Amino acid sequence: MICLGIESTAHTFGIGIVKDKIVLANVNHSYTTKSGGMIPFNAAEHHIDVCDKLIKDALEKANVKLQDIDLISFSQGPGIGHTLRIGAMVARILSLKLKKPIIGVNHCIAHLEIGKLLTDAKDPVLLYASGANTQIIAFEGGKYRIFGETLDIGTGNFLDAFARYIGLGFPGGPKLDKLSKDGKNFIELPYVVKGMDVSFGGLLTNLKQKYDSKKYSDADLAYSLQETAFAMLLEVSERAMYHCDKKELLLGGGVACNTRLQEMAKIMCRENNSKCFILENQFNVDNAAMIAWLGLKEYNDGKRQKIEDTEIKPYWRTDEF
Ligand code: AMP
Ligand code: MG
Repeated sequence: MICLGIESTAHTFGIGIVKDKIVLANVNHSYTTKSGGMIPFNAAEHHIDVCDKLIKDALEKANVKLQDIDLISFSQGPGIGHTLRIGAMVARILSLKLKKPIIGVNHCIAHLEIGKLLTDAKDPVLLYASGANTQIIAFEGGKYRIFGETLDIGTGNFLDAFARYIGLGFPGGPKLDKLSKDGKNFIELPYVVKGMDVSFGGLLTNLKQKYDSKKYSDADLAYSLQETAFAMLLEVSERAMYHCDKKELLLGGGVACNTRLQEMAKIMCRENNSKCFILENQFNVDNAAMIAWLGLKEYNDGKRQKIEDTEIKPYWRTDEF
């Protein structure tokens, strides 16, 4: 069975094609800005502009024809309303035109399930750290649950906001990753873990103040920021693993591309006799292969959806599933 999946929760529009358990294509194009952040209306326009070409590219890459597609899936939420609407609309058009079933899936759960498909992880705790989202997710007691999450901004938005403040441009995560390697002195920063949740707002303000004071080098700030923020994420991930009695950690989301986060996660897992699973970057960032895969999985598990039930769910929570 072949599923075509559509991703459009935020700045990335993607088309993925999965046949049974094989990813045949995973193509995408992201909306970027020269300065400033993302304007939802413009991101949606971007998605409209690129969708035709991406569908063609994905079919070509997968070496299948549109008529060969058996199922259409799309990110139904959570995400930005403007951009989600484009993916949902494309999915409905394809489903009606091809007379094939349609399934809307939860984007956060797709990050967990693609990890299980592409690694040896059987039942991991997912540390999902992306631009807008930061959640510790696991399947436990018969449903997907959130064991910890950010109380304010996502880790990626936090990194991008500080990077933009110090003039590194967008997206800043990869730039801070590189800059942090030149850091030598650890600067004490607010470490904000509240129960099982984290918060980045105060840390961001503190970093901006330290930057403005001109007493610290950019590299030392980048280095200390990463050590602090990632230790916060891994502290709650580790506790979630103990709580669920799970011995596997999976990293997901764009921030999972960070080399220092990967290194720290591996150290934590080694110290706990657990396994750490890290995906290729193309499956860490927002991608449509994971949407196609989750659509296929849910279809095979018996899920069916009417076209009138495909309205977008911008605030869909992982644990509402
Ligand atoms: P996503 O929303 O999952 O597509 O991820 C996008 C986020 O990942 C942006 O905030 C990026 O700054 C961040 N990101 C990408 N690569 C890295 C990296 N190497 N280190 C830290 N953050 C990264
Ligand atoms: Mg994501």
